Amino acid sequence: MKTLRSYLGDRWVEGSGAPQTLVNPATEEPLAQASSDGLDLAAALAQARRKGGPALRALSFAERGALLKEMAKAIQAHRDELLDLAVANGGNTRSDAKFDVDGAIFTLQTYAEIGASLGTAKFLIDGEGLQLGRSPRFHGQHINVPRHGVAVQINAFNFPAWGLAEKAASALLAGMPVLSKPATSSAMVAHRVMEILVEKKVLPEGALSLLVGTPRDLPALLGAQDVLAFTGSGDTGMRIRALPNIIRESVRVNVETDSLNAAVLGPDAAPGGDMYETFLKDVLRDMTQKAGQKCTAIRRVLVPEAIAATVRDDLAEGLRAVRVGNPATDEVRMGPLATASQLADVREGVAKLGAEGKAVFGSAAALAGVGAPAGKGFFLSPVLMEFAKDALASAAHAREVFGPVASLLPYSGKGADAAAIVARGNGGLVSSVYSEDAAFLEEIVSGIAPYHGRLFLGHPKIEQSPGPGTVLPQLVHGGPGRAGGGEELGGVRGLAFYMQRVALEGSRPVIQKLIGAPSA
Ligand code: NAP
Repeated sequence: MKTLRSYLGDRWVEGSGAPQTLVNPATEEPLAQASSDGLDLAAALAQARRKGGPALRALSFAERGALLKEMAKAIQAHRDELLDLAVANGGNTRSDAKFDVDGAIFTLQTYAEIGASLGTAKFLIDGEGLQLGRSPRFHGQHINVPRHGVAVQINAFNFPAWGLAEKAASALLAGMPVLSKPATSSAMVAHRVMEILVEKKVLPEGALSLLVGTPRDLPALLGAQDVLAFTGSGDTGMRIRALPNIIRESVRVNVETDSLNAAVLGPDAAPGGDMYETFLKDVLRDMTQKAGQKCTAIRRVLVPEAIAATVRDDLAEGLRAVRVGNPATDEVRMGPLATASQLADVREGVAKLGAEGKAVFGSAAALAGVGAPAGKGFFLSPVLMEFAKDALASAAHAREVFGPVASLLPYSGKGADAAAIVARGNGGLVSSVYSEDAAFLEEIVSGIAPYHGRLFLGHPKIEQSPGPGTVLPQLVHGGPGRAGGGEELGGVRGLAFYMQRVALEGSRPVIQKLIGAPSA
């Protein structure tokens, strides 16, 4: 069995102590083991600050962008191998695996282009210079400079390639070295990505480190110039934010957590119409892609009560066609959940929803996966829950069931009523609306915008629409409240987290010379 080592201080190091075993979630076959016990995390952070930071800060944005381009190329060259690993260790279908690996490549390429467009500068100029007094000589200018610490990036199990790449892209382009920590259960893809980057010597020394295994006291080792970008459960996010050093040192923390993303069907989208079909396609894709283990997946489906029964029947018909099993088998459309504990958690979530509503498709019962050994694998059928009235559904607005599970919630057909229901989710990453009724759209968008980081306005004429579940590097990802209150990506906006905004105040010619601006 392969032992996954960590890459710290520019060398591969192996933890001591009892390792954690990584398995194939479709067959439960052990694939690899990893341990972080005994690794000197403080020394790794110090080396990244000492070597990686200065090396990256010496480069211009265009040069840092060129590094990202090389990272994308290196990953692309090993794409098939990475897809195979995602199928084996992540329970991904090949299409799920592409979503992760191609998403990583695309995000790196996008940030490489942003770097090229920022040119030879090494820091960002933030807005226009300002005249501060009566004399134009008294001048102010905001700039953003890379922080001098290390960016620790902790990722969830569901996107091992994309999680590593999307966070690292922003930090490296901003000029901060990265220590990335994938979730242990699905770490094989991230580990292989790191091996590829090390083999190709893509990055300067100390620019990228990888910790495989439990994080131990990693967040407790961070100081005032460091930042921590975390993606995972709300509980872990809360624990990290409460650490004394995080509070004492004002360590900048970005948290991306749970979300009860909603899809709202407008009253004008009649069954059989193009808008209705677009909505059905998005809900079905989101429920089953990656077995629903996407932070952006649609969890709550709001439909006008007059057509709720039709929507239920149409969704059930679509779900019936989904074959669940070992993703290494050709006809399988949905793989297993990632781990035994995820399966147990989802089952518990379905039971909570079931106390208030009823399952109109699927159940949390044990399922034999197509092409999986008898009695093995963490399989679950898609589950559609129905609620007679939204008011009766409290768990649907409070409990993220991180699997192929969605709740069908009827509403009056009025935008304000739908907005009030969506807001019960207490903040989310993305919600989607399917309507062309301008008054309805205005009402619902103004009602739910403050509760989200992104709104997806579904439309049948958007060619090859990726649906609400796809995070694009050009747009911000994150959300208030339950979603963690964080923000990532969004093109150049994503760099701000890794940079310190500083106001320069003084003589205009001096400041203009300093920032390389042409003097007026
Ligand atoms: P998790 O248990 O919170 O783990 C997330 C990461 O945190 C893993 O790398 C884990 O390492 C690490 N971790 C665990 N305890 C820690 C601690 N005390 N200090 C520092 N790091 C710690 O979450 P998960 O089960 O992997 O992920 C599922 C959740 O992530 C879902 O709720 C989902 O909504 C959310 N998610 C959100 C987004 C988003 O962008 N908002 C994206 C994806 C997933 P180990 O694996 O070694 O334990």
